[in-house]
Amino acid sequence: MKELNKMQGGIGVEVYSRPDPKERYWDPEIETMAPEKIREMQLEELKYMVKFCYENSPYYKKAFDEAGVSPDKIKTLEDVKHLPFTNKQIERERQEAVPDLGDMICVPEEEIVYISASSGSTGVPTVSPFTARDFDEFQDYQARLFWGIGMRPWDRYVHALNFTLFVGGPDVIGAMRTGALGIWAGTIPSERLLFILRNFKATITWTTPSYAWYLGETAMKEGLDPKKDFNLKKLVVAGEPGGSIPATRKAIQDLWGVELYDFYGLSDLFGANAGMCEAQEGLHIYEDHHIVEVLDPETFEPVGDMERGELVLTTLRKMARPMIRFRTGDIVTVTWEKCECGRTHPRIMGVHGRLDDMLIITGVNVFPSDIEYVVRQDKRLTGEYRMVVYREQHLDRFDVEVEKLDTVDIEEEVLAREVREAIKVRVGVAPKRVIVLKEGEIPRATHKAKRVIDKREQVWAD
Ligand SMILES: [Zn+2]
Repeated sequence: MKELNKMQGGIGVEVYSRPDPKERYWDPEIETMAPEKIREMQLEELKYMVKFCYENSPYYKKAFDEAGVSPDKIKTLEDVKHLPFTNKQIERERQEAVPDLGDMICVPEEEIVYISASSGSTGVPTVSPFTARDFDEFQDYQARLFWGIGMRPWDRYVHALNFTLFVGGPDVIGAMRTGALGIWAGTIPSERLLFILRNFKATITWTTPSYAWYLGETAMKEGLDPKKDFNLKKLVVAGEPGGSIPATRKAIQDLWGVELYDFYGLSDLFGANAGMCEAQEGLHIYEDHHIVEVLDPETFEPVGDMERGELVLTTLRKMARPMIRFRTGDIVTVTWEKCECGRTHPRIMGVHGRLDDMLIITGVNVFPSDIEYVVRQDKRLTGEYRMVVYREQHLDRFDVEVEKLDTVDIEEEVLAREVREAIKVRVGVAPKRVIVLKEGEIPRATHKAKRVIDKREQVWAD
């Protein structure tokens, strides 16, 4: 991480320095650092972070003690393997055990200046806190990713991500740090967004891949040609795997006549943690901020370059709530081979699936267990349910089938509407349809019930 050099920008205003627009790298020293040097830096950071966690977080102290690892045991980078894993569930449990922010945090609350929260799959959202320095570095990191796609001061960037507790909201500040003109659109109706993109001659915007497709379709319905009637040159997509699935990539690039850049992020750690460079061959994940491990999910041994395994990340600089060996649940392939762009950091070449049964519907993480929660709570239903997931014009949708108890007297249409609304509140995205069936119509399974029928052809990258 380079120091945030400040320079005077006009009438006594401090602005962040940025590279000359001709420079390829935002942070040349870090981005092209020799791998041995990166590892040296990581070891220093890891030693510091483990000690910092041990001394400041009751959770980490207990977890490290139980695993028999004290800070002085970390002598090489490989020693990271002695540290216990964390995951989403631990994050949630600690937050519930010690309200409101949990005991994984390492700083007094007075030092926390920002929290984001992931969509509430248990009702209570999991919170990701940032100190002022964390937030500043988060924006510098986002600027590095944006610079890497070629964003420059003459670009006009329309930020069409949600600002409400969503970590992607403040990413717009990172875009502005590159010198680009930031237009804070947020999540607004598609017609309005199209108007803003067109009227302000936006050159770059960021959405989910499925929404990028939908937006293009909407433009055509309005009689516009996405290729000719807009100034868009680049699209950033994240939140769904589509940006790295060749057919989806090509469809969106052709529809808009743009270059498509895939980003990958976890709100538990940061905003976007990895992003494509202009070579568009995988997503760079920078090792000054993370230790990247790809592990066999059964043996927890590291797999080789380009072999499939679970992505496990350790944050090296986040102070408010460091994440040690966070199991992402994503099955990925990663290469450490140097990219043609000259950057030396590893690249995520594909996300190939999930270890759990999580679905990603229009950028929202959907767990069948949340649908189950809603269905089981409604006393007018039998509790049996099925989700049918399908794709309509590159947009993922799902229907939910439920059974109404014979003894209950209510119009099916009314019941369907109410269940749909309850699912929307719980999950954050509504099913396209709720189909009310009669008691016993959903096939009963003798073993594990098949709750999800996925009709989509390709969900993950090859
Ligand atoms: Zn590259």
